[in-house]
Amino acid sequence: MKRKKRILTIRPHHGLCMQFFAGKGYSDDFVLNMKTTIDYLNAHPEEPLILSSTTDIICGSCPHIDNQQCQTQEKVTRYDQRCLDICNLKNNVQTTWKAYVSAIKTNIIRKQRLSDVCWDCEWHSQCTSHSNNQSSKEE
Ligand code: SF4
Repeated sequence: MKRKKRILTIRPHHGLCMQFFAGKGYSDDFVLNMKTTIDYLNAHPEEPLILSSTTDIICGSCPHIDNQQCQTQEKVTRYDQRCLDICNLKNNVQTTWKAYVSAIKTNIIRKQRLSDVCWDCEWHSQCTSHSNNQSSKEE
């Protein structure tokens, strides 16, 4: 019997982080996993994808996970919820990578609203400068 393929789950704010990934991260494993996941998603933009505020494939290689939970749980769930709210989406919604990237670009990056999501992230200044570059190139 053919096994049904599991639908990939992504934390909503990780979709945003992936727009600014520049090969840096919390560990070599984390960076490799992030790159592999981005490459996979970009090669399969129409595959079903579930946006869920829970540990996902990116968290799987993060050194800051304890007992399946992020060490900064309050922050990451807040970032997830802000991404969903700004993009007019609900937690656990099924979408595609293509549709979610489009929602992120339209509602967050082009409107320069990164600070409304994750102003207190340690990577914020780097992502903001990438974000400003992206939106000015599109003007
Ligand atoms: S500032 Fe942090 S949470 Fe926000 S997109 Fe960058 S890495 Fe992700």
